[in-house]
Amino acid sequence: MLPLRRNIAEMAGYVPGFQPADAERWIKLNTNENPYPPSPRVVEAIRNELGADGARLRQYPDAGSRAARAAAARLYGYDADWLILANGSDELLNNLIRAFAGEGDEVAYIHPSYSYYGTLIAIQGARPRTFGLTAQFKLADFPARYDGKLFFLTSPHAPLGFAFSLAEIEDLAQRCSGMLVVDEAYADFAADSAVTLVRRYPNLVVTRTFSKSYALAGMRLGLAVAHPEVVAALDKIRDHYHLDRLALVAAEAALEDQGYLRQRLAQVCATRERFSVRLRAAGYPVIASQANFVFVSAPDGNGQRLYQQLYDARILVRYFSDALLCHGVRISIGTDAEMDALLQVLGA
Ligand code: PMP
Repeated sequence: MLPLRRNIAEMAGYVPGFQPADAERWIKLNTNENPYPPSPRVVEAIRNELGADGARLRQYPDAGSRAARAAAARLYGYDADWLILANGSDELLNNLIRAFAGEGDEVAYIHPSYSYYGTLIAIQGARPRTFGLTAQFKLADFPARYDGKLFFLTSPHAPLGFAFSLAEIEDLAQRCSGMLVVDEAYADFAADSAVTLVRRYPNLVVTRTFSKSYALAGMRLGLAVAHPEVVAALDKIRDHYHLDRLALVAAEAALEDQGYLRQRLAQVCATRERFSVRLRAAGYPVIASQANFVFVSAPDGNGQRLYQQLYDARILVRYFSDALLCHGVRISIGTDAEMDALLQVLGA
């Protein structure tokens, strides 16, 4: 027997979305990637950084991510010490738990939501607590005062796609004595963002990813807006060279090309609305989405069969059967042609 920590020996480990070996033969709508390429300015910045011979790669990247942080600070209207970049928002979720929760401390999240929170809590040896959702997509049984070390609120919610209102988030920030982390992985596709609230609530952290809206899942980039003391703590515990040179220039270029971002967001959101209307017209219950995916139930309640029907047509989506509220498939928004192919399989 290895001398593993008991929680590591006992935990299951996270299972990422299925990545088929022959991805080009599938319509892949199971991990909420962007169907369009990143900004041409991002590609150009990466090429420039590589240069003809890659000589710059000899040297370590800027450990402080200064240029990319400054770009993020300009975009969100905060000073740079309120911002931290990361190797995907997953790194931020991980380091927030490491910074705020010790072994045995309570950390909460919504069930169903992003299951990786549970994995990270298990690694840390913290104690998970989950809050459910009502049929109206409100938190069920959230106490007037919550004393857990952290509460992860996924908004827009994954996998259901609805968003909590800013009033609800503000109310939660007041009720939490610990940290409220609003995981805004999908917020660029939504109407509102809690970023503006961070200035008023030092216990509020907003995390963002470049994986969805910026089409950079393959670069591994995320960022957080938080009080400078929180940012300082996250800076203390991260790997010092957590972002490579290519990721750093990509982040800066992506943040600075908001025109391209807005154009792609409009495209994805228009496809999402058209797709949702068509599915509903064909009798499929679809939750109104503020993300780049929609949650769809089967008209006969058999989500597994719906998943299989799409799988057999080489369309990959994600099947969920976590709870009454969450039985069906989450479908990422692809190109119009991909969504049309899916609609055709369903006769919608
Ligand atoms: N939060 C949520 C809710 C997500 O769905 C994802 C992507 N699976 C992430 C965080 C992590 O995103 P990334 O690490 O790619 O930035």
